[in-house]
Amino acid sequence: MPELPEVEHVVRALRGAVSGRRILAAELNLPRLLAAPSPASFKRKLCGALITGVSRRGKYILIALDHDQVLVVHLRMTGKFISVGLDDPLPAYPHVIFHLDNDRRLVFSDMRQFGRMRLLSLKALKELAQINALAPEPLLDEFTQEYLFATLKKSRRSLKQLLLDQTKILGLGNIYASEALFLARISPFKSADTLLQKRGVLLYEAIRKVLHEAIEAGSTLKIDLNEQNGSYFGSDERFWRVYERAGEPCVNCGTKLRRAVQGGRSTYYCPKCQRR
Ligand SMILES: [Zn+2]
Repeated sequence: MPELPEVEHVVRALRGAVSGRRILAAELNLPRLLAAPSPASFKRKLCGALITGVSRRGKYILIALDHDQVLVVHLRMTGKFISVGLDDPLPAYPHVIFHLDNDRRLVFSDMRQFGRMRLLSLKALKELAQINALAPEPLLDEFTQEYLFATLKKSRRSLKQLLLDQTKILGLGNIYASEALFLARISPFKSADTLLQKRGVLLYEAIRKVLHEAIEAGSTLKIDLNEQNGSYFGSDERFWRVYERAGEPCVNCGTKLRRAVQGGRSTYYCPKCQRR
């Protein structure tokens, strides 16, 4: 599943590929991926729409259109965008096809079909509960150390589980939550409210570092919208410090890394470096 850095890569790739293009027509082959409006209204409103920009809020991709409309897309497990020429074969699962004015088609393909799309006005976007509930953007100034401390103090959940709650701390999924806690040398099982401020600073820095690292790794990776089998994580070139490395030696101390289950999700950690 793509995490925030991978969605950021998709946003950057999309921005380069479709900003300034006009949608000549939209085909919808899987109506239930559309949360709103009706399929007929979706196709009618997109016909002739100009794509003015592509951005992101959390893992929601925001494709801005003229006339104050915005197309909100969540990739969920396996959603992806693929750009194909008019004469190229369509990729597998061509659930939505946007015909663009440069003789290309932007295809939304989703093998598992959990992805969601919604076309709405900018005004309605501001009132969209799912987006309003999100915590501050982790790489912007609005995510401060003070915000993190205050959030930790209010929760008795384990740190790992709190880090996964996008309404409290945005941007860390299962991979980067484990990585950030390892980098800060903090136990994933520790109750959030018991973390001392001094160690909270380490956690804050670790959260930013893992996200920045992942985004930079992606910029050298260059997600290619023409690459139909491309992985979000760039195949096996990416290196996780602890994620999916149970049984392997810790890069700091050589102790065997462990896996535990918290809230139904796997947590990877070093029992020595992350004792407390
Ligand atoms: Zn260690």
